[in-house]
Amino acid sequence: MAVSTIADRLAAVRAAIAAACARANRPVDSVTLIAVSKTHPPDMLLEAIACGQAHFGENRIEEAAGKIAAVQAQTNVPLTWHMIGHVQSRKARDVVAAFDVIHSLDSLKLAERYARFVDELKRPPVSVLLEVNVSGEDSKSGFDGSRWQTDQSQRESLWSDIRRIIELPGLRVWGLMTMAPIVDDPEQARPVFTALRALRDALAQDFPQADWSTLSMGMTDDYPVAIEEGATMVRIGRAIFGERASLPGDV
Ligand SMILES: *Cc1c(COP(=O)(O)O)cnc(C)c1O
Repeated sequence: MAVSTIADRLAAVRAAIAAACARANRPVDSVTLIAVSKTHPPDMLLEAIACGQAHFGENRIEEAAGKIAAVQAQTNVPLTWHMIGHVQSRKARDVVAAFDVIHSLDSLKLAERYARFVDELKRPPVSVLLEVNVSGEDSKSGFDGSRWQTDQSQRESLWSDIRRIIELPGLRVWGLMTMAPIVDDPEQARPVFTALRALRDALAQDFPQADWSTLSMGMTDDYPVAIEEGATMVRIGRAIFGERASLPGDV
């Protein structure tokens, strides 16, 4: 059998997304596929672009800045770049300069820095998703949102940060993002996705002035389950581009 190409793998992922949408009674265009291209060279992204892929996710600004420029120089297709990895404060300016959507906003301090650089760079507001750790796993970054329903002080601190973030000019809050723990059976990730949606629903009720429509959740091993639980963006790397050589900071 021939080695499968990016075109074949993309087609298989799109079919699986459509099947999950059908099971959940959702229109297929309610899910945006983000091709996670970290570690892969511009040529592989161009191959995906030739198959109609327009959204790409990267997790390290050092790697992404040059790659974005290289890809943009070789295509006229309008592309949307998503920062999905943890960002150190000193890299905030470069991230605001290079990306359209930031999925990994995980502190008020970083939100304030992004807002400042949006102003300095005179760019349109940057869309942000608040990354929330709903599983309570220590290794995960994000706002702690593991006990907001039972722990009043956790809820107050989360709500208070969010109240300030949505007031920042320069940021357009667009929803939530989470990383599910790595598990053997994708069903084990389902409660994490359900929990993110429940938190989103509570925030939408308490902060109706912001847009909470995006739920960025689901990766290669668990995206069909995430879609059943309401994901509107799935971030998929290996199923499209194949295995990655592992790098520090990679997952
Ligand atoms: C690498 C990465 C992904 C994609 O992971 P795959 O298992 O390759 O699909 C999704 N989200 C984040 C935040 C990542 O770092």
